[in-house]
Amino acid sequence: MAGSQYEQVLARLREASEILKLDPGIYKILAEPERTLETSLPVVMDDGRIEVFQGYRCQHSTARGPAKGGVRFALDVCLDEVKALASWMTWKCAVVGIPYGGAKGGVCVDPTKLSKNELMRLTKRYAYAIAPIIGPEKDIPAPDMGTNAEIMGWFMDSYSAVVGTLSPGVVTGKPISLGGSLGRREATGRGVMVTTRELLSVLGVSPQGMTCAVQGFGNVGSVAAEIAHGMGMKVVAVSDISGGLYNPAGLDIPAIVKHAAEHTVIAGYSAPGVTAISNAELLELDVELLIPAALQSQIVESNADRIKAKYIVEGANGPTSAEADKILEKKGIICVPDILANAGGVTGSYFEWVQNLQNFYWTETEVNTRLDNIMAKAFHEVWDFSKKLNLSLRTGAYMLAINKVSEAIRMRGIYP
Ligand code: GLU
Repeated sequence: MAGSQYEQVLARLREASEILKLDPGIYKILAEPERTLETSLPVVMDDGRIEVFQGYRCQHSTARGPAKGGVRFALDVCLDEVKALASWMTWKCAVVGIPYGGAKGGVCVDPTKLSKNELMRLTKRYAYAIAPIIGPEKDIPAPDMGTNAEIMGWFMDSYSAVVGTLSPGVVTGKPISLGGSLGRREATGRGVMVTTRELLSVLGVSPQGMTCAVQGFGNVGSVAAEIAHGMGMKVVAVSDISGGLYNPAGLDIPAIVKHAAEHTVIAGYSAPGVTAISNAELLELDVELLIPAALQSQIVESNADRIKAKYIVEGANGPTSAEADKILEKKGIICVPDILANAGGVTGSYFEWVQNLQNFYWTETEVNTRLDNIMAKAFHEVWDFSKKLNLSLRTGAYMLAINKVSEAIRMRGIYP
């Protein structure tokens, strides 16, 4: 794979901007984040030692609204990755038309190696460190890899202490008891399957009996697999960090979800006909639908030629490299890009934020109906636009997003 994560983002931005004949000045604005904060986070560990962690928050754009995006706790977190993920958030929010710019944050840490108290102190210190640049009207963090609702609750508490007033709208993905939204946890996986459903409907293909493989069994992959199963698809393979499960006759997804809830991972699950499969093998299975819902850079130049799926719906951020895109396109594989397919998560966050600002809470059915409407509408906008211009869905989605963001920049005028 050529270059860094951020170069991957720039490759897509460049391609779409060239077709759009985008003003080179606007391109220069979009090619760099508005603001980046790097911070060292001292934490007193349980044994009394002081450890220092590197933290980041990058705001790529606030042209269309406050910056929005998750916080990742992982060992590969670095400035380059955070910048790439922040930029993806800008395009994602624009594609689905929610009034946000894009941001991302993270801490370079393996959260599984910390005790709960250490994790809480790290989170609270991180929230304190980035508090000057975030807020319900400025930049609203959320969960991402390695973070969850509990961590968002600690984050909200810390920010509220800094500003001196309870501020649930500063962060989304919170526990329901702290102003979280019903349906937020499932929103990304649900959105992935709304776009899948709409894709199959425009193609006139029935989901009934369709073979499907899902990489990743966290919030995104497990929910997507459950819904796929519920739609009558034959989910033949799933995987997570502990490995993969394969059954050509179809897996019992509800049973695996139950196992994962009890054991945190899918490892240890067994049933007649189920064999082990590696993450790499899963990607290359002869299935109709492939849902990469784990890490970035999974489908790259070296394995793209061996992908056999007809349709790829990207639950993860950046699972396919720019070089792999070209190979998949040549093979005629239809790929619903991440900035569209996984935008259900941030759309669910938008609903949570709106409810927090209004102190008026919705039912799960209201949340799910609104999510369905937004995701289906965005899918058809991207599909119609891309078909009209004979472009890939990814290039079409980027062009629509870049148009919206550059229009906002032009309408606002450059300050001063
Ligand atoms: N981390 C999620 C994403 O990458 C959600 C971000 C949010 O809700 O702000 O889209």
